[in-house]
Amino acid sequence: MPQAAKSPKSSTRAKKITAPLRNSDIAELLALQAETAKMPAQKALRRASRRALMWPEEAAEILRAGRSLTDLAGVGPYIERVIKDWLQDPPAVPIPPPIRRNFFTYADTQTILGKKPTWLASIKGDLQMHTTWSDGEGSIAEMADAAVERGYEYIAITDHTKGLKIAGGINEEQVREQAEEIAAVNHSLRSDGENLQVLRSVELNLNPRGEGDMDEQCLAALDIVVGCFHSSLRGKQDQTERYLAGLRNRSINILGHPRGRIYNFRLGLIAEWRRVFDLAAELDKAVEIDGYPDRQDLSIDLVRLAKKSGCKISLSTDSHGPSQLRFIEYSAAIALKAGIPPERILNFMSREDLLDWASKRRE
Ligand SMILES: [Zn+2]
Repeated sequence: MPQAAKSPKSSTRAKKITAPLRNSDIAELLALQAETAKMPAQKALRRASRRALMWPEEAAEILRAGRSLTDLAGVGPYIERVIKDWLQDPPAVPIPPPIRRNFFTYADTQTILGKKPTWLASIKGDLQMHTTWSDGEGSIAEMADAAVERGYEYIAITDHTKGLKIAGGINEEQVREQAEEIAAVNHSLRSDGENLQVLRSVELNLNPRGEGDMDEQCLAALDIVVGCFHSSLRGKQDQTERYLAGLRNRSINILGHPRGRIYNFRLGLIAEWRRVFDLAAELDKAVEIDGYPDRQDLSIDLVRLAKKSGCKISLSTDSHGPSQLRFIEYSAAIALKAGIPPERILNFMSREDLLDWASKRRE
């Protein structure tokens, strides 16, 4: 069997053979090959594995059309040769380990969304993104322009708060200054006859006790608040209590990227998720599907669980630049595939209803 020689080893997990290989298979093969490769190949393989989640087309299709795979992000001549060998002679692909499991590729999202074209078109806004005020690359006006392109009614600007120094978190004074810039952007949107409104928000940094790092009065003045954990994300112990405490934090509406997982880098936290989602439902708060491709957090298995609890779901991109607003297709696809009813998704609400819900939940 010639393909046995090419198949990345080091796994006793169940294997499947799919032909042609899909980008999800290629991502897994690249990650596996990286485990035994030497530098610098290892780094290139790991990067290509992560980038494969974002490739706009199936690599197999590109090759079939006689085009070069180096058009794809993260693919140079070396990676192209590796992938070509696999496509020509497909090895068995193991089921990914938990650190790479339940991630959709962009090609997957297109298949899912293609089954219900109205779904994506019904999304009225994006509820997590960063600007140059913290660690984003675009200004508020640039993010707003990209949102107008998508036909949105609203976007929430959720720069990091002061406790997260590494991401340039902003303090209360800066939040107030940012309000003036948002007001000016909204004013110019209105004078241009645009329907978009930029909402004031933050990605509130929560400590493991569920407490925020900002003055509550400052948060009360915002339109909507996302709360996220960014510390102690590698513990193996059950973290249910931290999530329950985070949800009970009166300042927040949405629990953002709940697991804290990153593709092939960090598994994320463990909790009795059913209890977490049940409390979110009881308090009428939302849990997020962060669509950033290497987060996809909540993952689909947990979104299915959240569906049973009946809590609200927030879709976001966690964009760090205007071009990343397209990542909404990942969160939208996960919600659709999990069968979340539209009325439970914040992003299907009108701006008025969303703002009404957000302010009532924080009274
Ligand atoms: Zn975050």
